[in-house]
Amino acid sequence: MFTLEKRFTFEASHCLHHHDSKCNRLHGHSYALVVEVTAEQLVLDGPKRGMVMDFDDITTYVRPLLVDYLDHHHLNDTLGTDSPTAEFIAYWAYKYLQAHLPHLSAVTVEETPTTRATYRPRPGARVLPNEGEDGHAATLR
Ligand SMILES: [Zn+2]
Repeated sequence: MFTLEKRFTFEASHCLHHHDSKCNRLHGHSYALVVEVTAEQLVLDGPKRGMVMDFDDITTYVRPLLVDYLDHHHLNDTLGTDSPTAEFIAYWAYKYLQAHLPHLSAVTVEETPTTRATYRPRPGARVLPNEGEDGHAATLR
Protein backbone atom coordinates (compact mmCIF):
# COMPACT_ATOMS: atom_id res chain seq x y z
CA MET A 1 0.00 0.00 0.00
CA PHE A 2 1.28 3.43 -0.96
CA THR A 3 0.22 6.55 0.93
CA LEU A 4 0.66 10.11 -0.26
CA GLU A 5 -0.03 13.20 1.80
CA LYS A 6 -0.26 16.76 0.57
CA ARG A 7 -0.50 19.58 3.12
CA PHE A 8 -2.23 22.89 2.47
CA THR A 9 -2.61 25.87 4.77
CA PHE A 10 -5.38 28.41 5.11
CA GLU A 11 -6.51 31.19 7.43
CA ALA A 12 -10.12 31.31 8.55
CA SER A 13 -12.49 32.44 11.28
CA HIS A 14 -15.13 30.43 13.05
CA CYS A 15 -17.33 30.42 16.12
CA LEU A 16 -18.58 27.32 17.94
CA HIS A 17 -21.90 28.66 19.18
CA HIS A 18 -22.64 25.70 21.46
CA HIS A 19 -19.20 25.42 23.03
CA ASP A 20 -18.98 25.90 26.78
CA SER A 21 -15.73 27.86 26.77
CA LYS A 22 -13.76 30.46 24.80
CA CYS A 23 -14.43 28.78 21.43
CA ASN A 24 -17.96 30.20 21.46
CA ARG A 25 -16.45 33.60 20.66
CA LEU A 26 -15.53 34.68 17.14
CA HIS A 27 -11.85 33.83 16.52
CA GLY A 28 -9.51 32.56 13.83
CA HIS A 29 -6.93 29.88 13.19
CA SER A 30 -4.04 29.22 10.86
CA TYR A 31 -5.32 25.85 9.71
CA ALA A 32 -3.67 23.07 7.77
CA LEU A 33 -5.56 20.63 5.57
CA VAL A 34 -3.77 17.36 4.88
CA VAL A 35 -5.15 15.24 2.06
CA GLU A 36 -4.22 11.55 2.08
CA VAL A 37 -4.34 9.35 -1.00
CA THR A 38 -3.67 5.61 -0.96
CA ALA A 39 -3.31 2.99 -3.64
CA GLU A 40 -2.10 -0.57 -3.96
CA GLN A 41 -0.39 -0.01 -7.29
CA LEU A 42 1.63 2.60 -9.08
CA VAL A 43 0.95 4.02 -12.53
CA LEU A 44 2.82 1.77 -14.94
CA ASP A 45 3.03 3.88 -18.08
CA GLY A 46 3.20 7.44 -19.28
CA PRO A 47 4.42 10.63 -17.60
CA LYS A 48 3.14 9.54 -14.17
CA ARG A 49 5.00 6.23 -14.26
CA GLY A 50 6.05 5.16 -10.79
CA MET A 51 3.56 7.45 -9.02
CA VAL A 52 0.28 6.84 -7.19
CA MET A 53 -0.69 10.23 -8.58
CA ASP A 54 1.00 13.52 -9.28
CA PHE A 55 1.14 15.80 -6.22
CA ASP A 56 0.26 18.68 -8.54
CA ASP A 57 -2.97 16.87 -9.45
CA ILE A 58 -3.93 16.74 -5.76
CA THR A 59 -3.43 20.49 -5.64
CA THR A 60 -5.66 20.92 -8.69
CA TYR A 61 -8.52 19.14 -6.91
CA VAL A 62 -8.03 20.89 -3.57
CA ARG A 63 -7.48 24.48 -4.74
CA PRO A 64 -11.18 25.26 -5.46
CA LEU A 65 -12.11 24.05 -1.97
CA LEU A 66 -9.51 26.36 -0.44
CA VAL A 67 -10.40 29.38 -2.55
CA ASP A 68 -14.19 29.09 -2.49
CA TYR A 69 -14.84 27.80 1.05
CA LEU A 70 -11.86 27.85 3.40
CA ASP A 71 -9.10 30.42 2.95
CA HIS A 72 -9.99 33.82 4.44
CA HIS A 73 -13.62 32.78 4.90
CA HIS A 74 -15.90 32.61 7.94
CA LEU A 75 -16.41 28.86 8.14
CA ASN A 76 -19.82 29.06 9.82
CA ASP A 77 -21.08 30.73 6.64
CA THR A 78 -19.25 28.82 3.94
CA LEU A 79 -19.67 25.36 5.48
CA GLY A 80 -23.26 25.99 6.56
CA THR A 81 -22.96 24.96 10.19
CA ASP A 82 -22.85 26.59 13.61
CA SER A 83 -20.21 24.08 14.75
CA PRO A 84 -17.32 24.13 12.27
CA THR A 85 -15.04 22.06 14.44
CA ALA A 86 -11.82 20.55 13.10
CA GLU A 87 -13.68 17.23 12.92
CA PHE A 88 -16.49 18.76 10.89
CA ILE A 89 -14.10 20.52 8.51
CA ALA A 90 -12.21 17.27 7.88
CA TYR A 91 -15.47 15.43 7.23
CA TRP A 92 -16.84 18.21 5.04
CA ALA A 93 -13.62 18.41 3.00
CA TYR A 94 -13.59 14.63 2.55
CA LYS A 95 -17.16 14.70 1.23
CA TYR A 96 -16.32 17.60 -1.06
CA LEU A 97 -13.26 15.88 -2.51
CA GLN A 98 -14.41 12.27 -2.68
CA ALA A 99 -16.34 12.65 -5.91
CA HIS A 100 -13.37 14.14 -7.71
CA LEU A 101 -10.10 13.01 -6.19
CA PRO A 102 -9.11 9.43 -7.06
CA HIS A 103 -7.74 7.25 -4.26
CA LEU A 104 -8.77 9.72 -1.52
CA SER A 105 -8.50 7.91 1.82
CA ALA A 106 -8.50 10.55 4.58
CA VAL A 107 -8.52 14.25 5.33
CA THR A 108 -6.86 15.77 8.39
CA VAL A 109 -7.44 19.29 9.68
CA GLU A 110 -4.89 20.86 11.99
CA GLU A 111 -6.47 23.67 13.96
CA THR A 112 -3.38 24.55 15.98
CA PRO A 113 0.18 23.16 16.04
CA THR A 114 -0.94 20.70 18.74
CA THR A 115 -4.50 19.78 17.67
CA ARG A 116 -5.74 17.87 14.66
CA ALA A 117 -8.72 15.81 13.56
CA THR A 118 -8.85 13.17 10.84
CA TYR A 119 -11.81 11.79 8.93
CA ARG A 120 -11.13 8.37 7.46
CA PRO A 121 -14.36 6.64 6.44
CA ARG A 122 -15.16 3.06 7.26
CA PRO A 123 -17.23 1.42 4.51
CA GLY A 124 -20.92 1.68 5.32
CA ALA A 125 -20.45 3.95 8.32
CA ARG A 126 -22.78 6.88 8.88
CA VAL A 127 -21.15 9.71 10.74
CA LEU A 128 -23.86 12.23 11.38
CA PRO A 129 -27.46 11.41 12.31
CA ASN A 130 -28.90 13.66 9.62
CA GLU A 131 -26.64 12.46 6.84
CA GLY A 132 -28.54 11.58 3.70
CA GLU A 133 -28.38 8.19 2.05
CA ASP A 134 -26.07 9.62 -0.59
CA GLY A 135 -23.64 10.72 2.09
CA HIS A 136 -24.26 14.41 1.48
CA ALA A 137 -26.27 17.16 3.13
CA ALA A 138 -24.46 16.68 6.42
CA THR A 139 -25.01 19.51 8.84
CA LEU A 140 -24.65 20.01 12.56
CA ARG A 141 -27.64 22.23 13.16
ZN1 LIG B 1 -11.39 27.65 17.04
